[in-house]
Amino acid sequence: MDPVHVIGGGLAGSEAAWQVGHAGVPVVLHEMRPVRRTEAHVGDGLAELVCSNSFRSDDAQRNAVGVLHEEMRQCGSLILHAADRHKVPAGGALAVDRFGFSEAVEAALMAEPLVEIRREEIAGLPPEEWDEIIVATGPLTSPALAEAIGALTGAESLAFFDAIAPIVYRDTIDFDKAWFQSRYGKGDGADYINCPLDRDEYERFVAALLAGDKIEFHEWETSTPYFDGCLPVEVMAARGLETLRWGPMKPVGLRDPRTGHRPYAVVQLRQDNALGTLYNVVGFQTKLRHAEQRRIFRMIPGLEHAEFARLGGLHRNTFINSPRLLDSRLRFKAVPRLRFAGQITGVEGYVESAAIGLLAGRFAAAARQGHETSAPPPTTALGALLRHITGDADTTSFQPMNINFGLFPALSPDPGRHADRKPILARRALADLDAWLRGTEPGC
Ligand SMILES: Cc1cc2nc3c(=O)[nH]c(=O)nc-3n(C[C@H](O)[C@H](O)[C@H](O)COP(=O)(O)OP(=O)(O)OC[C@H]3O[C@@H](n4cnc5c(N)ncnc54)[C@H](O)[C@@H]3O)c2cc1C
Repeated sequence: MDPVHVIGGGLAGSEAAWQVGHAGVPVVLHEMRPVRRTEAHVGDGLAELVCSNSFRSDDAQRNAVGVLHEEMRQCGSLILHAADRHKVPAGGALAVDRFGFSEAVEAALMAEPLVEIRREEIAGLPPEEWDEIIVATGPLTSPALAEAIGALTGAESLAFFDAIAPIVYRDTIDFDKAWFQSRYGKGDGADYINCPLDRDEYERFVAALLAGDKIEFHEWETSTPYFDGCLPVEVMAARGLETLRWGPMKPVGLRDPRTGHRPYAVVQLRQDNALGTLYNVVGFQTKLRHAEQRRIFRMIPGLEHAEFARLGGLHRNTFINSPRLLDSRLRFKAVPRLRFAGQITGVEGYVESAAIGLLAGRFAAAARQGHETSAPPPTTALGALLRHITGDADTTSFQPMNINFGLFPALSPDPGRHADRKPILARRALADLDAWLRGTEPGC
């Protein structure tokens, strides 16, 4: 049997190679380090954690990333197995000894007879004779390969920086203050959620943005030729008190139904997923620290009790417009021998990257064995994340996404307004994943 080729031995590529090998299919894992380095990796090991050593919450009863951990364990994930073995104390989080973790991943892959590891850069499109490929080269994909991918996707569908605006769960917005309306009634007339600010509220909000604690860019981020200068909201605020009122917070074309007047300033939120559960705060990409984002954005009238499915950020990142380019099995529609996995597909985080690697590995192995395997149902964390990046997300404003309960389909029957949905969604996800693995739930 010809091997599957996995390019990139990070979180996603290591997991993908493991899944392929475990399915009984030969696999070659191509990792460019140490031949060529990235700006963020410091060592040569596979699955190196480039920053924090945390895989976030391990609570599978109430937290979406905890559910994703548990589903990955059920699917025989190498990344989760190595993380569990090299766990360090971190309260309810799953944090790891980064060196022990990376060594364990590499040792497991080296011991797997069907896995071959080659230390080489794939500096362009892979040879034609490779007919089953997983590209898992991450946020710092080498320039030569990124250029080749860009030639396939078109410049508008490959990004070198993300500009992540915070995302709010719609059901945590106060509609006694916020209202639906598009500027000048454009589109459906009610495409945006609007949060009005009076002059005092606006000036206090701008002052809080300026004083808020921020994360600096890495020097190598700002010096990359790709940085397109997409400005964080606090940088816009620093250009003058009125800048935001002439930019993302401009109130023109809107009328507050409570007063009948145009508000002094407005924050707009736009629907972010087909389910209509998530809304992003338009133009609010930011380098504010996460705790500061929660504090400052809750100063916005209507968002006082907002819960955030994703917080904002702005980083060097390489990712494609997956909902436009990939099919439901992560294949590049225009060149189906290429599959994509990991951060480059527009998921965000170690766990999400590995999760998409897990799915890509399973899909590729099944294809090599001559059949198409089903995808996990969308009620599972794996299925919800996959469906978001391969279809549900808005292609015009696509930005990296982490797993959160807003990606899961609504409960049926609805448990009522005051019900605690998280444990119910978590239980449903794990039950459906179990049924899918046993073959009693068809998946999609
Ligand atoms: C600076 C930085 C900090 C981050 N911090 C965090 C964090 O704290 N927590 C978190 O959850 N997420 C973080 N992320 C986001 C993301 O989750 C990680 O980058 C994660 O490692 C992505 O997994 P991946 O497998 O997609 O990519 P990677 O883990 O980066 O793996 C990609 C691999 O591909 C190799 N490669 C690249 N190009 C080629 C090529 N042409 N040929 C062969 N090999 C190639 C690279 O050397 C690398 O080993 C961070 C990202 C960056 C850039």
